[in-house]
Parts: sequence; structure tokens; C-alpha cells
Amino acid sequence: MKTVQTKRKRSRPEQASKFQLTDSLEGLGVSEFLSRLASVAAFEERPEPIAWIEANRRLSPESSHEVGPYRFERVPYLREIQSTILAPGGGEIVCALASQVGKTELLLNSLLYWSALEPGPAMVITPDWKTAQSFSVDRVRPMLRDAASPAEDHELRDPRAIDSVFHMTLGSQMPLTVVHGWGASALAMRPIRYLIFDEASRLPLSAKGARSDEGDPVALAKIRTTTFGDFAKIVYTSSPVEEGACRISELYAASTRERWHSRCPHCGSLQVLRMPEMDFGDATCRCLVCGLRAGQDTWQGQKGQWCPENPGHPRRGFWLNCFASPFVRWPAVFEEWRAAVHQKEQGDYGQFRVVLHTRLAENFTTKIELMSKPETLLARREDYRAEVPDAVRLIVAGIDSQASWLEWLVAGIGPKAKSFFWTVVRSMAGWKATPRVCTGNWTRSY
Ligand SMILES: [Zn+2]
Repeated sequence: MKTVQTKRKRSRPEQASKFQLTDSLEGLGVSEFLSRLASVAAFEERPEPIAWIEANRRLSPESSHEVGPYRFERVPYLREIQSTILAPGGGEIVCALASQVGKTELLLNSLLYWSALEPGPAMVITPDWKTAQSFSVDRVRPMLRDAASPAEDHELRDPRAIDSVFHMTLGSQMPLTVVHGWGASALAMRPIRYLIFDEASRLPLSAKGARSDEGDPVALAKIRTTTFGDFAKIVYTSSPVEEGACRISELYAASTRERWHSRCPHCGSLQVLRMPEMDFGDATCRCLVCGLRAGQDTWQGQKGQWCPENPGHPRRGFWLNCFASPFVRWPAVFEEWRAAVHQKEQGDYGQFRVVLHTRLAENFTTKIELMSKPETLLARREDYRAEVPDAVRLIVAGIDSQASWLEWLVAGIGPKAKSFFWTVVRSMAGWKATPRVCTGNWTRSY
């Protein structure tokens, strides 16, 4: 114990945790006891997690194009999530995140911080054996190797895989187990203080035991945290999957439901960047308040913030799509979306689901698809009087509803799909002042 403290004193004086010092107080003289007590009191002030991570974490070439010191200014939306995960005490944190927003780095930062400052047994549960191996060998090991803390503190051998379970030691005293969600025996191995579900929505519904299914792997693993009571920390991360079968969406629904809001570079108002406001032509996003447009770097250069829909809930929940990420270029997402929609129109929904889940962080739902069925639309017709060109047989209206205005376009369809368009109308007064959409003059036709 003493050796370890001395060795690390220069780089990480906060290394000794309260638990270890308390354990070693027995048999000490009064002066030494008080000295240790004072040092414990000093250690109560843990370093601020964000600053500590930026001082100690290095991005590894195996997993990042941006090798070097980790910087939250690159991913400002992760700052609050990271602080929440590393806050003193226990609790549950739900992260419903799109791919390529920096989720794995968030987990690696957490493991490094805990190993140095508040060690405790940790377990990471992944969807399958391959992801467990990849997390252990390709992510955790390079993270330990490249951290600013002395490399000899960590066990840098390749993680041992016993019965498909990867065992590592972070620092000199923090056991980390990486296991896939199928193995019931591994999930029930030992008490866990830090429990991380990676891609929680893709974990199996039931873990396999020696003879039968053992039940929900999330429930099985959570039982292991009971020893640590209020000090246990449970982190769920995942991009969503289909509605009704999505763990992360269900967990997020019962949480503070915080969404990252970006700030308009023109008027300063806050909004979630979403697909409906995107212009594929010039790769810009429209502000919902002032109506002006800006490109990706301009939006991301402004100071955004998390806004809770359900403040005060004991479980913190964060939701983020890809449009806030500096690692994903918007035009690439638009291309993926175009291709996915094209395939969907051919009857192949595979790519559409992938883009919806991993880029937009939204559930695939069959309800939206039902709305596009002709019968559903026909059932919503109403009778009313209006003058229209003789050739028009069907009238449809598309309405874009915004926070402070409505915008709509009316189109008449004639024989041989001939189209007649009405003017785009904008109402700043909202729904109550909206006139019947089909009264007035047709100003354009094609
Ligand atoms: Zn604006």
C-alpha cells in the first residue's frame, strides 16, 4: 500500500482512496493516525473529473484519428454526461446515443478515473463475445498504455479470456471484467460497484445458463451491485432499436430525459438539430425560431446545452443524435439517408433501420409507416367547399409545424398525375388562426 502511494505521489497524489486508508488505520500511533486522518480529509476533495481526464487521458491510434490529449472542447456535449457518471456516490445514468459521438471514450475515461481515484470492482457487459474481446483488447489496453499515469501501474498483458470472460486489473487494485450478455455464470460472478452495459438495447433478452435460460442479463448483473448499495454506479449506453423492444428507450423514458440543444448562430435560441430542418442541397440546418440557416461547423461552434424534459428524476438520461458530433459530416449522413429511403421504397427496410437507429438515435416504428397507407389517408377526408381548377381530382396539403409558425403547401392532382400547386403560406399566429387551407386562388400550375 505504502509503496504504491509513494510511487504515484508525484503524478497522482490523490491515488489513495478513503477505503484503503481506513483499512490501514489499525495499529497506528496517535500522531500517525491523525496524519493519516488529515490526509484522508484532504483526499475527500477529489480532483474535478473533467480537468483530471484532460490531464491524464490520451487518445490511442488504434481507435482515433485524433491521437493525443483528450479534449472536451471537441465534444462539449459529453462534458455533462462525463461529470454525471463520475460524480461522487452511486446512481443510474442512461445514455441513448447515436454512433460516433464519442460514447466509448466516455466509458474509457470513466474506467481510468475510477481506477486511479476510487477503485472498485467493475464489469462491462457487451452484446457478444467479439465486442467483449474488442473492448478489452482494442480499447481498454491501449487506453491504459497511453494514459499519462505510469504504465507500470496497470496490467498491460493481453486480457485473459477464461470461459469467454476477459479479466483485467486497472491500476494495481481495480478488477475489471468484460463479459458478453449471453453468459449467465459470468454475470453472477462477484460483487460489482461499477456496472456498464454497452449497447444495452442489443443485449440478449435472456442469458444462457448451464441447463436453461437464466433470465434478463441486465437484471442478473444488477443483482451483483447490491453489496455496494447507494455507492453502486450503473451506466447504460446504446443507440436505440425498434420501438417496443428497446431497453435504452424504456430506461430513457423513465429518466430526466435530457436532450442536447444546439444554439442558433443567428438568434441564439436553442433547438435539437433534426432531419426535418436539414437542407440536403447546401448541408445546412434551419433555425426553428428565426428561420435562418447555418452549416454544421457554424452550428457546432456555438455553445449548446442539455435541456431536461423531466427534471428532478433520480435517474439521469441523455439523448443525442449524430448532428452534434464533429466526427460525422452531415453530407455523409444525407447520402446514407437517401440510399436508405431508396432501398425502403424497394421494400428493403434494413438500411433504413440502421440509419434511423445509429445516426438519428430514434426507434424504428411501424406506426409511421401505417400513416403512409392510402386507406389511412383516405379515412381522414373532410367535405368542404372550395374553388379549384377543373382538372383537379385530389388535393393534398403538407404542413410544417414549428414552435411559432406554420407553413403549408397545397397541391392539386389531376388526370395523368398533372399537378397544380398553390402558394406556400406562412402563418405566424399558430393553429387557431389557420384558415381552411383550400380557399383562395391557385397561383401556379405545372
Ligand atoms: Zn435563429
